[in-house]
Amino acid sequence: MKVSQIRQAYLDFFARKGHQIVPSSPVVPGDDPTLLFTNAGMNQFKDVFLGFDKRPYSRATTAQKCIRAGGKHNDLDNVGYTARHHTFFEMLGNFSFGDYFKKDAIQLAWDLLTQEFKLPKEKLLVTVYAEDDEAYEIWNKQIGIPADRIIRIGDNKGARYASDNFWMMGDTGPCGPCTEIFYDHGDHIPGGPPGSPDEDGDRYIEIWNNVFMQFNRDEAGVMHLLPKPSVDTGMGLERIAAVLQHVNSNYEIDLFVNLLKASKDAVDAAGGQNCDAQSPSLKVIADHIRACSFIVVDGVIPGNAGRGYVLRRIARRAIRHGYKLGARKPFFYQLVPSLVKEMGEAYPELRAAQDKVAEVLKQEEERFFQTIANGMEILDGALAGGAKVVDGETAFRLHDTFGFPLDLTADVCRERGVTVDAVGFEVAMQKQRDQARAAGKFKVAQGLDYKGQPTQFHGYNTLKHEGARV
Ligand code: ATP
Ligand code: MG
Ligand code: MG
Ligand code: MG
Repeated sequence: MKVSQIRQAYLDFFARKGHQIVPSSPVVPGDDPTLLFTNAGMNQFKDVFLGFDKRPYSRATTAQKCIRAGGKHNDLDNVGYTARHHTFFEMLGNFSFGDYFKKDAIQLAWDLLTQEFKLPKEKLLVTVYAEDDEAYEIWNKQIGIPADRIIRIGDNKGARYASDNFWMMGDTGPCGPCTEIFYDHGDHIPGGPPGSPDEDGDRYIEIWNNVFMQFNRDEAGVMHLLPKPSVDTGMGLERIAAVLQHVNSNYEIDLFVNLLKASKDAVDAAGGQNCDAQSPSLKVIADHIRACSFIVVDGVIPGNAGRGYVLRRIARRAIRHGYKLGARKPFFYQLVPSLVKEMGEAYPELRAAQDKVAEVLKQEEERFFQTIANGMEILDGALAGGAKVVDGETAFRLHDTFGFPLDLTADVCRERGVTVDAVGFEVAMQKQRDQARAAGKFKVAQGLDYKGQPTQFHGYNTLKHEGARV
């Protein structure tokens, strides 16, 4: 099954089970200033769950465009390193607004995976919240999963990366336990089961999270049972596609195979000279073109604060990886048509905006290509002679004069097994602010202000980067 067929099969399955198919909301949440980017399927239903909004349906299903590259969920650093993380991905979800609860949600999930998608049962294992005996019993008795493949995850466990399996919308409000479904890709892949110290490998991959909104937490922290509990689920489309296409890595699914090929061709044409097709840098590029394109589709342009700066960071990171492979002129924007080929049918807004997306990214790329070579020389110089740390002054100079976001410098450092002095960077940035203030020409280097004002969209004709120096 191709990615597009899997997406449709999921939506059709839940439509047959009485769910309304609802289109994805934009990646830039229009009505939620607390959120940088849409990061889950439930975002667009937040007010329905809270009871502030009513819909003509009590069951819904979506394929939601998500960005996890800043804020609470930030997977930027995982891209190029794990087989399963993207900055942009699609989250398939089914939702119950005070309709069905644990019994039906678990049954539906199981039926989809084992009957519709025909996954072998013995390859699946699940986690439940440590105290959620109800979910445990459903998996064990109703579904028939043996006890050794149901893992209880609590708040207080030894594992480093385990999520708590208890979801909260905020300090107060709806909350409840989760149950997550994992797929075992086989013992030839490194990694341990969820809850174990080496769970961060790519062997047991989390494919689906089912959240049970069971309580309302008040200001005193007391949990009250909700009269009409709800369900919110999320399954990564690329992860289930990997399972169904019998590959371990998301980057080997049909959509990414094509994007990776296009990335290699574009890098080679820009100077890459037959670059290594297996390079993690190509994965970064193929991942980032999706995130950057969909962010621009929703009206954000690269800038120095807020959403515009997240976009700039992702774009420049991709450009730097192309540079690493030998590209010496813009290549990234040329991937837009390939992306449209893969995703334009499911997301017509992408196809409609493709020329503008390419133009915005090209301008950003031309801009960064003016300084990247000199910046890389400075960085190489700082690391020459076996230095183990890039000092804060240098990192700040790279940021301020050469347009290297701090995380880009950190990304290069990580590849080379060294670190960057992030505290020293902040000190250097503050020093410059103070000097500027003293000089009476207050010029804020807002570069790291991720929570700044959302980027205002003034149409694609104004491509000025306000306040940007490089
Ligand atoms: P992980 O532990 O693997 O980082 P998560 O627990 O942060 O995932 P959830 O917030 O539970 O993820 O999101 C629901 C589902 O979305 C996950 O089970 C997974 O299939 C998918 N998903 C989450 N983050 C990513 C990502 N960065 N790229 C691709 N798919 C993702
Ligand atoms: Mg995560
Ligand atoms: Mg997780
Ligand atoms: Mg999860």
